[in-house]
Formats: sequence, C-alpha cells, structure tokens
Amino acid sequence: MYQPLNYHPIFGPEIRCPHCRQWVAALTLTDTYLCQRHGAFEADPQTQTLVHLQSGRCWRQWEEHWYRQHTHPDGIRFEIHEELDRLHTQGYRATRVVVAERYRELISTFLERTTPWRTDEAKQRLYGLPVEFSGPASDEARWSVINFELVKEPGPPLKYPYFRLFD
Ligand SMILES: [Zn+2]
Repeated sequence: MYQPLNYHPIFGPEIRCPHCRQWVAALTLTDTYLCQRHGAFEADPQTQTLVHLQSGRCWRQWEEHWYRQHTHPDGIRFEIHEELDRLHTQGYRATRVVVAERYRELISTFLERTTPWRTDEAKQRLYGLPVEFSGPASDEARWSVINFELVKEPGPPLKYPYFRLFD
C-alpha cells in the first residue's frame, strides 16, 4: 500500500500513552505507537480508536484526552466510582450522573431501579444517584467518545451509598 513519506497515524506523530501519559512516538510508516513500559498501541483509522495490542483495550480521543471504551459493565462502573471519589476530595458532591447512550444496555444490569410513588416511570440509580443517558439533543460527536458526566455542586456528599455495591 502506498504511504506518503510524511505518513502519520490518525493521532499524529506522537501520543501520550493512555496508561502512563508519557509521550510515545509512532513507528515509521505504521499505525503503531510503542510505549517503553506498556508496549504497542495501534491506531485504527476506521473506528478512530487506539487499541492496546496486548490487552485489547480501546480508547478514543476528545480534546487531547483519552477515553477508555468499555465493553464490560464493571469497567465503566469503576470509572464512575473513581470520579465520585475524586469529586469528594475536591469538595464537591454529585447530584446525578449522565451516561453516554451507547452504554445503556451494558450498564442496565447493575442499575438500581425504584418506582417512586405516584409516577409510572421507574427511576434508575447508580451509587444512589439518579442516572440519565445522553439524549438525541446532546452533542453527538463528544458523546460518542466520552463515557459519562457527573453533575455536581459544592458540598460534602449526601449519604449516597457509594460503597454499597462493593461491600
Ligand atoms: Zn505507557
């Protein structure tokens, strides 16, 4: 296949490794980046993803940030949990979580369902927080990459049962 001399993979001549954040250069005329510590990552121009060859983990990029693309419910659940922890240490509490629509089916297995009195609509919760999904009005390009967003306000956490699922 013909490749111009200045060929670069879709993510450019170098990237930050999604694991250690070190700058990693692409191997000449390939779609492969090689991290000294984490091995080979391959850019897939079709899906705009970066694949860690050893583990099969995938990332997509939005505004210079790597977002892991989850294929197992525990992956995104732990990521949300970590972010809740981080918010807490910054003096914020989450009031709800908005999850990318593409994960609706994946995470449905562990959402807590409650049907409030006098409403027909079952409310879905995660770690005690109301869960919504990115709707059709959301910024589609961004939501096809990022995983979730926490809506936050200053203050200590309410008594969310953050750790209930991990007891
Ligand atoms: Zn690395």
